[in-house]
Amino acid sequence: MLFEYTHPTFPLPTEAQPFMDSEDKNGRLALRGDLLDFTSMPGWDEVESAAVRYRPDHWLLIEDGCIVGCQHGAQAPDASWRREEHRGKLLLPGFIDSHVHSPQLDVIASHGSTLLDWLETYTFPAEMRFADWEEAEAGAERFLEALLAHGTTSACVYPTVHKISADRLFASAASRGMRLITGKVLMDRHAPQALRDDVPGAERDCIDLIERWHQRGRLAYAVTVRFAPSSTPAQLEMAGRLCSTVPGVYMQTHLAETQDEVALARSLFPQSRSYLDVYARAGLVYPRSILAHGIWLDAEDRALLRDAGAQIAHSPSSNLFLGSGLFDWRAALDAGVAVSLASDVGGGTSLSMIRTMADGYRVQAMAGRSLTAWKALHAATLGSAEALGLQAEIGSFAEGSTADVCVWDWAVGAVAERRLSVARSLHERVFAWMMMADERNLSVAYVAGVARYRR
Ligand SMILES: [Zn+2]
Repeated sequence: MLFEYTHPTFPLPTEAQPFMDSEDKNGRLALRGDLLDFTSMPGWDEVESAAVRYRPDHWLLIEDGCIVGCQHGAQAPDASWRREEHRGKLLLPGFIDSHVHSPQLDVIASHGSTLLDWLETYTFPAEMRFADWEEAEAGAERFLEALLAHGTTSACVYPTVHKISADRLFASAASRGMRLITGKVLMDRHAPQALRDDVPGAERDCIDLIERWHQRGRLAYAVTVRFAPSSTPAQLEMAGRLCSTVPGVYMQTHLAETQDEVALARSLFPQSRSYLDVYARAGLVYPRSILAHGIWLDAEDRALLRDAGAQIAHSPSSNLFLGSGLFDWRAALDAGVAVSLASDVGGGTSLSMIRTMADGYRVQAMAGRSLTAWKALHAATLGSAEALGLQAEIGSFAEGSTADVCVWDWAVGAVAERRLSVARSLHERVFAWMMMADERNLSVAYVAGVARYRR
């Protein structure tokens, strides 16, 4: 490793423990249901798309936590497989939430403010609690249980400025075998004293956490800059140094969410051409950069994101709730920028990626565009995986992928049942599901072939 290990204080977790499914025969599990995933990116307007792979009533075959094949429902796998019947239900790859804040479950749905005063009034006080070991641990457990109960099996997460908050999140994800990307939040100015770090201390904390967790199992470290206004130029420079010296490390931050925030960033970094340019100058825009929101961008910014191979984590629920603006998905697509979907809880009002997709549709509708169910679903699964460079592991049912699989009811309640029963095409059916379903439709969530949530 690059760095000396200096963090012996906190207990390391045991490796992922079997849970509920210890009776698996030879590690073989077969799930029966309607399999839906993607083999490539659907076009913007396509309601019939060759990128969609729909295999109604099939068995998905899983061995030692990985997908090994698929066969028709009538052709039952032999007795060497433990069979689980989910006939008539929808099986999707586990959702990927590319931007979410674990401590903000405590401030979700807080009334009456826009981004900058929402941070002051609600978010910062809630984040202070995570300095405490027990709060950090309980918060991490609560958060990951909630993610799984919403059908999200992978996530890019912001804990708090406290090292322990990231440490406990990594530990909780490791014990569940989840794909998780996180890192301690960097903020050394424009925040309450109790939530501020300093450059040497933050760098030490990052290095310790990288040593301890980065690329261990399904975990990866993300250099996590809250946003440009809350980091000094010296801290951004330190973050850029980590990004360029630690192989495989991600970078996550917020970008151009509201106009007030853009004005603040510009006043603090007058030498930069744009808000994005602040990050680019610090070496923070590269293929593993995850930039949340990206609403207030121009063509030059989009070209920079495309050339860098960075992604925008589009957070429609949060954008609607905080009144931040309407993301121009089509412009990002036309410019060749990767777009993933994110709940951005607590700015977003639900951890459900289904509700997030539905809000994504509403945002595009407000701008006179129609988002297909395929574009939305792709951005929450394979598209997100590809943007993270993790498509060999997550986001689809391709052979060799890790078996992160969620089982959904097509309809809950008489109205949804009726609506889906009269759908004339697959897109119509999936679109109605996307607009009407939520976490109450979730039946089971498997992580690496192990049921980690059952209704
Ligand atoms: Zn956010």
